[in-house]
Amino acid sequence: MLIGKTAVITGAAKGIGKAIALAFAKEGCNIVLNYHSSVSEDTIKEIEGYGVTCLPVQGDVSDFEFAASLMKRVKKELGSVDILVNNAGITRDMLLMRMSEEEFDSVINTNLKGCFNMVRHASNLMLKQRSGAIINMASVVGVMGNAGQVNYAASKAGIIGLTKSVAKELAARGITCNAIAPGFVETDMTDVLTDEQKAKMLEVIPLKRYGRVEDIAEVAVFLAKNTYITGQVIHVDGGMVM
Ligand code: NAP
Repeated sequence: MLIGKTAVITGAAKGIGKAIALAFAKEGCNIVLNYHSSVSEDTIKEIEGYGVTCLPVQGDVSDFEFAASLMKRVKKELGSVDILVNNAGITRDMLLMRMSEEEFDSVINTNLKGCFNMVRHASNLMLKQRSGAIINMASVVGVMGNAGQVNYAASKAGIIGLTKSVAKELAARGITCNAIAPGFVETDMTDVLTDEQKAKMLEVIPLKRYGRVEDIAEVAVFLAKNTYITGQVIHVDGGMVM
């Protein structure tokens, strides 16, 4: 179903984003791999190994003009944007009483505004095509909150509100918009936690294992194929939030 389609994935050089890029490539999608600091040649070759085109584009999703230029370039070089996965995200954890303005703003700008920027410009193209699938990376933290993550939780809760509103605005044109709310997935983002913190996490995961990047990628592919699910938040968290 996805052969020859174009998937734009933000923050796709590593972690969950890279797994999503590989999963879409395996389905026959051409990949626009947005990266922030760097991407390895091996990653690009691995994607191209599925016989698809991989267009690496460096840029910061929090920059409105970057999002506009990215979509213009994709339209010119690959013809369409069929799937958009807003995966880029950061954490700057700190207790509320010590959180700086910069720590709050940087997380909101990357996670929430970055998502808006990309959706805003991709939707122009999707509306003309009268089709498209938008998948935004939320988090269980955006649903249940977390001490030390006021900025991150607010950004992810914002993504959920954005997702539902976009779903309502674009549904009439055949465009779906959903969010994935991962629990604890083993990536660089969670690697900064201490062993003690990780063990505590495991205690609240009914399925008694951490998430794998592939668990998330599988759901992203499913949401891109399905044309009758929209405005939903799919929890992929081993049962953390029920
Ligand atoms: P990760 O390994 O740290 O990857 C995040 C990616 O986002 C990196 O490639 C990073 O690039 C990129 N990025 C950061 N700022 C960016 C910007 N301004 N513009 C473009 N790209 C940017 O984290 P991950 O665990 O794979 O997380 C992926 C997504 O899942 C995030 O939205 C995260 O909030 C969400 N999530 C993760 C978990 C988890 O347990 N891991 C749980 C819930 C939700 P650079 O490194 O080059 O800056």
